Amino acid sequence: MTTMIRCTACGYHIPVAVFASSRDGACPLCRRPVKAVLLPAMRHVPGGGGPPALPEEPPAPGEAVCFYSPNRRATRTCSHCGVFVSEAWSAQWGSEHVCLKCLDELRGRRKDVRFEVRRVLWDNIALGTALLPFLLCVPLMLLGPFGVMLMVLPLMGSVVTAPLALGFSIYAWKKPRSMVPRGPWRTISALVLSLLQCAAWGFFLVAGMTQTFLR
Ligand SMILES: [Zn+2]
Ligand SMILES: [Zn+2]
Repeated sequence: MTTMIRCTACGYHIPVAVFASSRDGACPLCRRPVKAVLLPAMRHVPGGGGPPALPEEPPAPGEAVCFYSPNRRATRTCSHCGVFVSEAWSAQWGSEHVCLKCLDELRGRRKDVRFEVRRVLWDNIALGTALLPFLLCVPLMLLGPFGVMLMVLPLMGSVVTAPLALGFSIYAWKKPRSMVPRGPWRTISALVLSLLQCAAWGFFLVAGMTQTFLR
């Protein structure tokens, strides 16, 4: 049974008894008003009855039996592996129903975007790579005249990072973005920035070559 409720303002553990008569109370520590809704489950004593379970429905003769529990009537088939499953042993997965074993596998494999828990943010990588030479210039600039001279190094490095960032942006364009909804501006910025850098390098190289060969 839960006996404490955390104050949302100061984090103090307020005894549930404060809310016994009314859902409005005050935090004994910070004195701020706290509203608490005590759900019946909060009064549930662990060990006193166990977790709620769906009632067993033994199948009638001739009826399909749940693959996982012989005491349950199968009500559907797993859309993933095809076994007969009861209500208690299946779960909804988007628009499909799958058995709990398949659900576990699908979640573990992380192939299904609906249950993905982490994702590589290629748009961030692309933008980071496109900005890297300039970001490296900032601390160098603060070093004074010597640092400003060193700025040539990251700027020269962009001959590598620019095409790399261009590749990442094209890759990021095809990949799903963050699970938190966000627009394509990172990918677009990375694409524009890396294209500009590539164009600048292309221009320098072509200009350099014509200078060398046409002299
Ligand atoms: Zn408080
Ligand atoms: Zn299955």
